[in-house]
Amino acid sequence: VAVTAIPESKCRTLVAGATGFIGRFVTESSLEAGRPTFILARPGPTSPSKTKIIKALEDKGAKIVQGLINNKEKMEKILREHEINVVISVVGGANILDQIPLVHAIKSVPSVKRFLASEFGHDVDRANPVEPGLTMYLEKRAVRRAIEEAGVPFTHICCNSIASWPYYDNTHPSEVTPPMDRFQIYGDGNVKAYFVAGSDIGKFTIKTLEDPRTLNKMVHFRPPCNYLTINELASLWEKKIGKTLPRVTVTEEDLLDAAAENRIPESIVASFTHDIFIKGCQVDFVVEGPNEVEIEELYPNDKYITIDECFEEFAINTSNNNEEVVVVTEGFEDEIGNKKQSNKRN
Ligand code: NDP
Repeated sequence: VAVTAIPESKCRTLVAGATGFIGRFVTESSLEAGRPTFILARPGPTSPSKTKIIKALEDKGAKIVQGLINNKEKMEKILREHEINVVISVVGGANILDQIPLVHAIKSVPSVKRFLASEFGHDVDRANPVEPGLTMYLEKRAVRRAIEEAGVPFTHICCNSIASWPYYDNTHPSEVTPPMDRFQIYGDGNVKAYFVAGSDIGKFTIKTLEDPRTLNKMVHFRPPCNYLTINELASLWEKKIGKTLPRVTVTEEDLLDAAAENRIPESIVASFTHDIFIKGCQVDFVVEGPNEVEIEELYPNDKYITIDECFEEFAINTSNNNEEVVVVTEGFEDEIGNKKQSNKRN
């Protein structure tokens, strides 16, 4: 396969969706690995927070290219001009079908040796969530079929759940701490799932890019150290915060009702939560097909950030925030303002 001829660190990588939740982890890992990294930024005005993210990535060495993945001609031009070898798409759930023109652009640019589509979850051909999650999977399946038909070399990253408390209505749960008031336990809370830290999703994704063993394969992230039930997650969090919290059952029916409300994106998350924690979609199969591989088998000497370490970090953040909360509940709001100001002056 021609791709092995390019030294890893010289591989020119374009990330579409670098300002997104998963995209930032992937882009940072690409830059940390010393790869020439290009990020596709949408043309036109952008929010101050996105501008800040782009600037931070640029400071770390990323080169910014303006474009939209659904503009085939423009994408072709970008890929040729920058002699891109690897394209990683991490566009969000609402833009999955935008990748079809990108697939066609990649097909006509021979320098591109690998395409990673916006997967970053489950094996969408295997899992069958209820609607509205199913619609997203139908779209991801359509992108897979377009890649196969075009003969574009690919790797599909099936990284399972991001390490965090799996709130059933939050698309980006690792951005918030686990609960401090009560746990919502899905069903009996005894269905296992795999949790992977965001930075590990980035790091291991980058490792697969020139690996001939991942060419045209699905790569499953199943770190044994992070194979837990939601009951086990709850106990771990209780240990970290040094207190027990009440557990409330969210039944299968509750999750199906939340999915049926069809509020986007919350209902999509509810349908995935049902699929993971009621149906066991992450664990009800063995990775054994000719077109799939487990990441732990590829890189057996690499360590994973444990869920214990992630919760430790959440606990530290929570206790830092709580110092302020405690003072507020004691009625020293003015005092807080003054204290903060005097701290700043120091
Ligand atoms: P986000 O919504 O956070 O970010 C999407 C990114 O794509 C943004 O940078 C956006 O640009 C960009 N984008 C969208 N459309 C286009 C386009 N046409 N051209 C160029 N750029 C575009 O995405 P997520 O990180 O939430 O999702 C990425 C993938 O990860 C999805 O497949 C999702 O299903 C999966 N995922 C997996 C999780 C897990 O736990 N395993 C958790 C969350 C997501 P702009 O900034 O301009 O809007």
